[in-house]
Amino acid sequence: MSAGSPKPPRFPLGLDSVGHGAVRSRAKPEPRAVLRPQRPLHEAARDASRQATPQGLGLDSQPVRERMIALLRREGIRCEPVFEAMRRVPRHAFVDTALANQAYEDTSLPIGLGQTISKPSVVARMIELLFDGAQARTHGSLGGTLEVGTGCGYQTALLAHLARRVVSIERLKPLFDKAGTNLSAWRLDHVRLVHGDGRLGHAPNAPYDSIIAAAGGEDVPQAWLDQLAVGGRLVAPMHRGGGRGQVLVVIDRHAHGCQRTEHEAVHFVPLKSGIA
Ligand code: SAH
Repeated sequence: MSAGSPKPPRFPLGLDSVGHGAVRSRAKPEPRAVLRPQRPLHEAARDASRQATPQGLGLDSQPVRERMIALLRREGIRCEPVFEAMRRVPRHAFVDTALANQAYEDTSLPIGLGQTISKPSVVARMIELLFDGAQARTHGSLGGTLEVGTGCGYQTALLAHLARRVVSIERLKPLFDKAGTNLSAWRLDHVRLVHGDGRLGHAPNAPYDSIIAAAGGEDVPQAWLDQLAVGGRLVAPMHRGGGRGQVLVVIDRHAHGCQRTEHEAVHFVPLKSGIA
């Protein structure tokens, strides 16, 4: 389905007006603590009662998003395009109202069915890695983008600002429906939501300049490699094997093969097979 809607947007996104400024290129990633985009649900529920949003800052106001961006800068993120997208996408609109007061903290939150919206710092870091790829460096855009694991649709909305076209796949029907509802607040004619098994990618719109996954598997599915364009980049959490946890894996596809690099340790929900 396409996430389009005849309704006027609740939150004007100005999809065409986002600047794609220079992105700092890092030859060697600095070592960081393990990124935990999906923390245990009981911790999120416990924190729901903390009322952590500063008094006097409404969730619709720009200062709460600027605070979040300032926090991400302190954590080492340097990707101006992703900050620009984060200014425009109201994260609180993608989570339950009971959790909205935590939407601009650097924390993951439950979105139902045992899944979570990823931490802003991890979302920003993964998109930053995509922006360091050849496609984005050359064209200032993520180009045609495949997202695996739509969840509530927050990252999809960010990608919509940064990519020419977004195809996002979710295997759980209730979350696929929820993302469609969340994203229908805007006219996103260049975003296509798919209910399916993202391990298979989405061949009809391939090849993709950028592929990003929000769930961690044991290996990189062959379909993703097959559907990655020459000059394109893939960013995904993957298990290292031997119980050593997950890392962010970057794969660049060149004319004569693929190059794989490993980055920060992360902790994502599992990439599962099939649909439900
Ligand atoms: N970026 C999302 C994160 C959602 S959590 C957000 O902002 O909300 C990861 C999601 O990946 C979950 O919704 C889970 O159902 C989905 N997922 C796991 N395996 C999948 C697969 N094989 N295909 C598609 N989605 C998958």
